Amino acid sequence: MRTEAVVEGLRVTACTFSTDGPEADGTVSWDSTTVVIVEAQSSGCVGTGWTFAPAAVENIVIGLLEPVVQGRDALAPVAAHTAMRVASRNAGTAGLVGMAISAVDIALWDLCARLHYVPVTRLLGGPLSEVEVYGSGGFTTYDQERLDEQVSNWLGFGVRAVKIKIGESWGHRVGRDLDRVRQVRELVGGDVEVFTDANGGYDVGQARRVGSELDELGVTWFEEPVSSDDLDGLAVVRSAVRADVVAGEYADGPSYVERMVRRSVDCLQIDVTRCGGYTGWLRCAAVAHARGVEVSGHCAPYLTLPVAPATPGLRHLEYFHDHVRIARTLFDGAPVPVAGRLAPRQLPGHGLTLRRSVVDEHRASRGGRTR
Ligand SMILES: [Mg+2]
Repeated sequence: MRTEAVVEGLRVTACTFSTDGPEADGTVSWDSTTVVIVEAQSSGCVGTGWTFAPAAVENIVIGLLEPVVQGRDALAPVAAHTAMRVASRNAGTAGLVGMAISAVDIALWDLCARLHYVPVTRLLGGPLSEVEVYGSGGFTTYDQERLDEQVSNWLGFGVRAVKIKIGESWGHRVGRDLDRVRQVRELVGGDVEVFTDANGGYDVGQARRVGSELDELGVTWFEEPVSSDDLDGLAVVRSAVRADVVAGEYADGPSYVERMVRRSVDCLQIDVTRCGGYTGWLRCAAVAHARGVEVSGHCAPYLTLPVAPATPGLRHLEYFHDHVRIARTLFDGAPVPVAGRLAPRQLPGHGLTLRRSVVDEHRASRGGRTR
């Protein structure tokens, strides 16, 4: 077993992928997604991490984090994580910095696992067991035909739950929200759960009223009924509806989680590309576990998959349309679910390999120059 290796440097690249049609949730619309990819080198090995973030994250990786990790022990990603958090104290560890730390942390875990020639899951002490996923997308921009097509596609993978966006136009189209939920409810039948995500589009009173309609439709998951910044509001909605109230996708670390799991959510979402990578994920999950709250992976299913089997109280991962599409384009080694489950790869690292030609094709331009 290797006992010495040093992080020689980081390479960072931003790539932008257009959506396959107009997309929106309750509060935001978009037509592309940018991925910031970090590659960490040591002893002829390369570890790869990434985050779904603006290209500005490139500057944070190069300007703030590379000086911290360069020359460090490549077999000690936890120590590098702690050093990155300390170095970011004044800049803050949420938002873009949290995304940057996440991408570097994952690159360093992948590097460490490849240096040891073991899967990341094994390095973290997890079994190579399959993990349940649920279908996620159902954008408010979709017409009936497109929504049916997408949900039918997920059902073909054997998922046991599907999630659509509601809260359209900041809660101003509740009738259409409920019609779309009814459409999906009828399509999936009684054995598949229907989840909804309002992305903070309702206020508290409206979320309670919509929530009782969702209860009548058998919806079991009501994500961000109000802004996830409103911990009291989440708790009020939680006490009023039968569906699980869920939030947490913006968590940047254990302190955030500790505040949220006191009384505001039935299940905590964690995003491995925002919470501090695999190190941050495990710390956040441990805090939720201490409060008896289960966790669910937010977006980025292929990046979350390696850490999932090592996670206490894991419920499932989100098989999110945009991120699945990008990962399956950008990497070799991203399979589709079988019987609603994904299996960690039995390969060194996270088992995904960048397609260099796709990186070159989608490289984002910054101010007229490319990196
Ligand atoms: Mg969400």
